[in-house]
Amino acid sequence: MPIKISARTVKREFLERLEKISGQNIHKCFQCGTCSGSCPMNASMDAFPRKVMHLAQLGLEGEVGKLNTCWICASCHACNVKCPRGIDLPRVMEALRLMALRRNVDHINPSRMASDLLRECPQIAMVAAFRKLTS
Ligand code: SF4
Ligand code: SF4
Repeated sequence: MPIKISARTVKREFLERLEKISGQNIHKCFQCGTCSGSCPMNASMDAFPRKVMHLAQLGLEGEVGKLNTCWICASCHACNVKCPRGIDLPRVMEALRLMALRRNVDHINPSRMASDLLRECPQIAMVAAFRKLTS
């Protein structure tokens, strides 16, 4: 007998996986936006951290996956020291990166990087980027 997988199930699965990997209760977020206001990387993000939390609460994996937010996050912890709900947002961002990498979705491809960037970028930064952004 075929297993029925509804959209509702898929959404719940995404949220449960995200909460399990990050160790955070995504539903504790009450959308105050403090994280977005304190994020030093917000100018480079498609969507601010607050919006990522909202989409995650709704279980919208596809929408979250289209955004560059988790890849731009520098894990600086500015957001989580100010979050009034005590949410460790860097861990949520890390979990989103891990979930993408486990689907073999790489954020950078060394063979497509500009040759002057490869030549000028410090090796330690390249190694760190490959560790963080490729599966
Ligand atoms: S600071 Fe915390 S509660 Fe406020 S929007 Fe960000 S994650 Fe949610
Ligand atoms: S940990 Fe990431 S999301 Fe939070 S303030 Fe720093 S760069 Fe922004």
